[in-house]
Formats: sequence, C-alpha cells, structure tokens
Amino acid sequence: MRCFSCDSISLEPVCKECTKDFLTPLMINKEIANLDVVSFFDYYLTVEFIKSKYITSGYRIYKFIAKKYFQPFIKNYIISLDSKKNIYLIGIDESVDRGYSNVALLTHYSAKNSNTKALHNVLKAKSRVKYAGQTLEFRLNNPRGFVYSGPKNIDVILIDDTITTGTTLEEASRVLKESGVNIHFALTVANAQEGVDY
Ligand SMILES: [Zn+2]
Repeated sequence: MRCFSCDSISLEPVCKECTKDFLTPLMINKEIANLDVVSFFDYYLTVEFIKSKYITSGYRIYKFIAKKYFQPFIKNYIISLDSKKNIYLIGIDESVDRGYSNVALLTHYSAKNSNTKALHNVLKAKSRVKYAGQTLEFRLNNPRGFVYSGPKNIDVILIDDTITTGTTLEEASRVLKESGVNIHFALTVANAQEGVDY
C-alpha cells in the first residue's frame, strides 16, 4: 500500500519516515475536573491524520493508531495495576457519521489485551450539535446530553480522538460517575490546546 502522508510504498498505512516525523508520541497530560487525560500527539502537528476521520482512508489510519499506540499503552497500564479486574474501554460517542466511527475503531483495536473489553455504543450524545470551530462558551451552552446505557460500577478507560476544551470529556465523565463507573483516565489521540478544533 501507499503511505497516507507521503504516498511512498509502505507496509503500514503510514511509512516509517512519516511515523517518525509526525507520529512520535509526546504524551501530553491534562487534568479536567479530576479526570486525567493523556494524549499521544499535538493536534496541530498531526492534523492530517486526525482529520482523516472525514474520509474513507481514515479507517486504516485510526486502526493503525489504535494498534500501534493505544493498545500497548493500555496493556502496560493494566500490567501496572497487577489486578485481574476487567477494564472496559468506552468511546465518547461512537455514532457513525460517514460509514464508520473513528472512535469505535480506537476502542475496538485498543481492547486486544487480556482483562480489557470494549463496550460499544453505550455512551451516546442526544444532541448532534457540532463543536468544530466553536468557542468554549458555545460548548458550555450546548451540552451533548450524554446518556449511558452500559453496566454500572465498572472500571473504565475513556477513549476519544481529540481533547479540545475538555467540555465533552467532563460531561461524559459526570454522566458515567452517576452510574458508579470508576474512570481510571481518558486517552485521546491528540490534544488541541487552542480551544478550536475542525
Ligand atoms: Zn510516508
């Protein structure tokens, strides 16, 4: 196949050179209302990969990111817990806009560890309002209205593609905590500090 970024022949969806140039993990930490959020990349350096969710080839990009970065990270975390307890992965709104859900791909391919299970489509936003390009004020005035339909009192890692202002993750975590869900942390592909995503 060809590299998504530079079009050279490559065994992986992103070639070794482009992986090194654009997808070297930075591990950016942020805390939102007592929730630790870990992001692998800076949004602005990886925007072409993040935005691939809008096109068909994004399917293999998100699968690649999940397998290469999310799955090993979660595996190491679970080993560090030294517990047999199951950890569930919940994606922030896996609704399908364009044939596939990039967040569902992340949770699915990140859950290939023992003691890990993806819970698909259990956290749904009632509102389809688009946050892309919107201010923090707009986001706060237009909550997603998350509804959680999964099991209560479980251990969870939250999964999303991008953290921008954190309003979405904060709202999601509040709804989950009302069901007694213990959120260990949230894991996102990218962190966009500027307050605007696309
Ligand atoms: Zn390349």
